[in-house]
Amino acid sequence: MTLPRRGLLFGFLATLTVGLPALGADKDPLRILIIDGQNNHNWVSMTPILREALEKTGRFSVDVATSPPKGSEAAQWDQFSPLFSKYDVVMSNYNGERWPSRVEKAFETYVAAGGGLVNVHAANNAFEGWPEFNKMIGLGWRDNKFGDRVTIDDSGKVVRTPKGEGPGAGHGPQHRYKVTTRESSHPVTQGIPAEWLHAKDELYQGQRGPAENMEILATAFASKEYDGSGTNEPMIWVIPYGKGRVFTTVMGHTSNDETVAVRCIGFQTVLARGAEWAATGKVTLPIPANFPTATQESVVKEPAKTQ
Ligand code: ZN
Repeated sequence: MTLPRRGLLFGFLATLTVGLPALGADKDPLRILIIDGQNNHNWVSMTPILREALEKTGRFSVDVATSPPKGSEAAQWDQFSPLFSKYDVVMSNYNGERWPSRVEKAFETYVAAGGGLVNVHAANNAFEGWPEFNKMIGLGWRDNKFGDRVTIDDSGKVVRTPKGEGPGAGHGPQHRYKVTTRESSHPVTQGIPAEWLHAKDELYQGQRGPAENMEILATAFASKEYDGSGTNEPMIWVIPYGKGRVFTTVMGHTSNDETVAVRCIGFQTVLARGAEWAATGKVTLPIPANFPTATQESVVKEPAKTQ
């Protein structure tokens, strides 16, 4: 029976803070829902790292909705009913089967009405046959007949390659690579170094889709040395969907024994800022002093192994 006591304590604290500036007034935690449960990546180890990256900013309260595993019966899917409208932003760490149509419809309605969406890495591999999702992500892991490709040439010009021409989705061997900021006036990337060294990761190239109203915030050069396309591939971009804001990063590969890409402080900082922006349209989260430089990567320590 602790409720009455907590009530008293709250009243007491409220009395104490009267007259002080309302520091937290516009900084109530943003409610974020991470969706996982199916992925060709190790979502079981990845979601806690994403969660920690968000929680340590003090800006988010994080919930996780885990879908039924692949091949589940309809009765199990009936239990999967994320209450999107309860959240300021949804983060997808999901790459698997289509959701029940009632969930997909609720998701479309949520984003169109102003909900935020953040897609991480293979999240843009999902749902090839879902047209509204393709509009939200702009570019997905699809073959070259699916849609256009968008890259940035050496002069900084956006190049659109029509469907059927050029490479489809792929990546070469993982390596450290430099990320180039392309839009320094966007809230997410304002103040982020012009170039920063990302920890070892896959470098997605040849992504395809409708790519409408896409604003590319950062690219990486896909070097031929690593079987790359030889041009600047979009790494981070944003797209409006109705009244909603969608942020996508294709960085963040995670395998059973490799989590360094999602432990990169550059990745984590941009991810949290992207989530804040998708939720509110603004960014208040600072860029940490240990953000990677153009020549020095910066990663948080590996989580302790649970026995
Ligand atoms: Zn991957």
